[in-house]
Amino acid sequence: MTTITGGCHCGNIAFELEWQGNANEIPARACDCTFCVKHGGVWTSHPGSRLRVTVLDPKLVTPYQHGTRTATFHVCARCGVTPVVTCEIDGRLYAVVNVNALVNVDAASLRRAPASFEGEDVGSRLARRKRNWIGDVEFANARS
Ligand SMILES: [Zn+2]
Repeated sequence: MTTITGGCHCGNIAFELEWQGNANEIPARACDCTFCVKHGGVWTSHPGSRLRVTVLDPKLVTPYQHGTRTATFHVCARCGVTPVVTCEIDGRLYAVVNVNALVNVDAASLRRAPASFEGEDVGSRLARRKRNWIGDVEFANARS
């Protein structure tokens, strides 16, 4: 197990990812949706891993949805970085994190590949996220 840390640029959103996969082979999916193209969004996940997200000021996190509106992009309203995307399926929260927001990961460990989910129907989309996304996700307000 490797603890990967990351977050937005200004520090408002931070996360700790207990990575259960091979830390030298971290998948990095360059999504070709219009949001990810504009943001340079490249995502990773491992279904057996655990993610803890800490937010200093929730008022400075803008939830953003587009397309099928099944995923929520957590955009830092102060610095504009989107470190994490979540999706709630059957009452459970799933997530992917932005590889560009990782702090302690060597770029050589990233296995970059293009990813295209255009045209995928909602059912297959949610089933894929259930299989591939981080399945143990918790958000904490640092001030609570
Ligand atoms: Zn920020």
